[in-house]
Amino acid sequence: MPFQDLPDRLVEVRQRIDRAAARGGHGQAVRIIAVTKTHGPDAVEAALNAGLQDVGENRVQEALGKMAAVSSPVRWHLIGHLQRNKVKSAEGFSLIHSIDSLRLAETVNAHALSRGAVQPVLVQVNIVGEESKGGFSPAEVSAAADQLQGMRGIDVQGVMTMAPYDASPDILRRVFSGCRSARDELQRHGFSNARELSMGMSGDYEIAVEEGATLVRLGTVLFGERT
Ligand SMILES: *Cc1c(COP(=O)(O)O)cnc(C)c1O
Repeated sequence: MPFQDLPDRLVEVRQRIDRAAARGGHGQAVRIIAVTKTHGPDAVEAALNAGLQDVGENRVQEALGKMAAVSSPVRWHLIGHLQRNKVKSAEGFSLIHSIDSLRLAETVNAHALSRGAVQPVLVQVNIVGEESKGGFSPAEVSAAADQLQGMRGIDVQGVMTMAPYDASPDILRRVFSGCRSARDELQRHGFSNARELSMGMSGDYEIAVEEGATLVRLGTVLFGERT
């Protein structure tokens, strides 16, 4: 059976999350998103069998193949960059984590309105200004919020960030608390549904949870190294 140690891995991850949440003291519930990128539909099935309902993919095309192959209900999360010409194909995602520009927000908004839908999204923030990653800088969040205000086809449910790879615990904590501040800023701008903090991957999820993460995106720690 593929991924047969997933249930045991999950038990350990959940314990670590619970302990981190207790240390952090933000009182939030934490949901695990099983990141199945590069794996086949069998990884999605294994996640579902282990009791997970949220699955993350970073490419639309790869996700569509798995959506077609898996018949059980899954909450699909798009966690990677979305090109504007792929927005139509992304309507099967229950949450798009990667709104990294106003132009993309407008395109997603327009497509949702055209099909009479409201697309749940997160605003991606880039706390330390890494060139290689997209997203709004902390200084841009307030102005972006004003622009997003009028877009009725999207439901802004919070923020997402990716921490620099191999960053020190101090930097990680700064990134994650900066992400939390960005979410709080959205709330102050009237986005009352902006509760989610999507942050934390296999290498840094415990610090993310200490800093208030509500969604952790876990691949390697659940499924093993990607080849
Ligand atoms: C791949 C990926 C993850 C999961 O990474 P792991 O280190 O394997 O847990 C999380 N978030 C994003 C945006 C990713 O692309």
